[in-house]
Amino acid sequence: MMDYSALEEAHSSGVYAKRPVMIVRGEGALLWDDKGREYVDCIGGQGAANLGHGNPAVAAALAAQARELISCPEILHNELRAKLMDRLCELTGLPRVYLCNSGTEAVEAAFKFARVSTRRTEIVAAMRGFHGRTMGALSATWNKAYREPFLPLVPGFRHVPYNNLEALRQAVTDQTAAVILEVVQGEGGVHPGSPEFLLGAQALCQERGALLIVDEVQTGFGRTGKMFACQHHGLQPDLLCVAKSIAGGVPMGALLIGERVGVLPGHIHGSTFGGNPLACAASLAALSEMARLDLPGRAAESGAYLIARLREIPSPLVRDVRGLGLLVGMELRSKAAPYLSALMDRGVLALNAGLNVLRFLPPLVITHEQLDRVVEAVGAVLAEPVRELAGVPE
Ligand code: PMP
Repeated sequence: MMDYSALEEAHSSGVYAKRPVMIVRGEGALLWDDKGREYVDCIGGQGAANLGHGNPAVAAALAAQARELISCPEILHNELRAKLMDRLCELTGLPRVYLCNSGTEAVEAAFKFARVSTRRTEIVAAMRGFHGRTMGALSATWNKAYREPFLPLVPGFRHVPYNNLEALRQAVTDQTAAVILEVVQGEGGVHPGSPEFLLGAQALCQERGALLIVDEVQTGFGRTGKMFACQHHGLQPDLLCVAKSIAGGVPMGALLIGERVGVLPGHIHGSTFGGNPLACAASLAALSEMARLDLPGRAAESGAYLIARLREIPSPLVRDVRGLGLLVGMELRSKAAPYLSALMDRGVLALNAGLNVLRFLPPLVITHEQLDRVVEAVGAVLAEPVRELAGVPE
């Protein structure tokens, strides 16, 4: 039989450190590999699978729309797109939206619109922040390992410590077009922002004529226990970046645009696939499923359960367990990678966030029984002697 892992390895770019598993199917919070082995999925499509795998309503909407119309660029009107824009604006309380195809594109658009709107060029971002990998979004991303191979990046970006309002106050000037922040830093280690910092940033932006960009690419669509994490704090961004789970796992991103941005001039930005009917159909179906299943409510309840159970694990290796909703991090006193491999051996797929944080990003439909399996596996791998797990590539 053909070895498809080897085939993929032979032809892929090399930019991903792949795990040795071939995934073929998913349902809810479970995944299966080509040998029929079942996994509890705490990777959750890296945040794109909030709704769970194999949602029938999304599948039906996609199939029906694929027969009707797939391509329709935004220079033409489309009813589904109109309905989706209306729904996204209703959900976020922001009046307009630019549709694109990924998180990094939403961030990129935010920077371009902020520059045009304010006629300023500087952007202030946070240390440990992650905003994507295109050149603009990468300029706002903190991690040196992602940035350094691509220097020089876009000029005019600076980084301040997260949750430090005084540092932000010193960095925002009359040249600042925008401040970009996550409500919970996901990739940077699962660090929730304090309400004082986030609301202070909003007030500061208003005072100094800068725009507040909130990046909810990872925290949006129920993940943190509210539809959007901003709603925990009454935070009102001028530009709101969303993507990942917006269309039930189908590639899509969106930038919600507030009143302070003003009307943008025509032709300054665009995207061939942005707002295509297939993604709009998937998104409308996904959004109504999220409401029907009360995914934000489930994330709040299940996240509190997971955090409480992980905190019960009596291991000296655990430094901290933190998170908001089902965006959960377990900080270890050692590297996370060997434990991710060991978890996979025990049927749990999870992520890291930085070097020493295990990150759990399951579909929000995950059951308590499945969370118990995760907790048991974590307890077991932390109890194993480290030396048995060392040297596993990640
Ligand atoms: N912003 C944040 C906060 C993210 O977590 C991510 C992806 N992990 C991105 C932006 C980039 O999104 P994408 O991979 O869809 O381009």
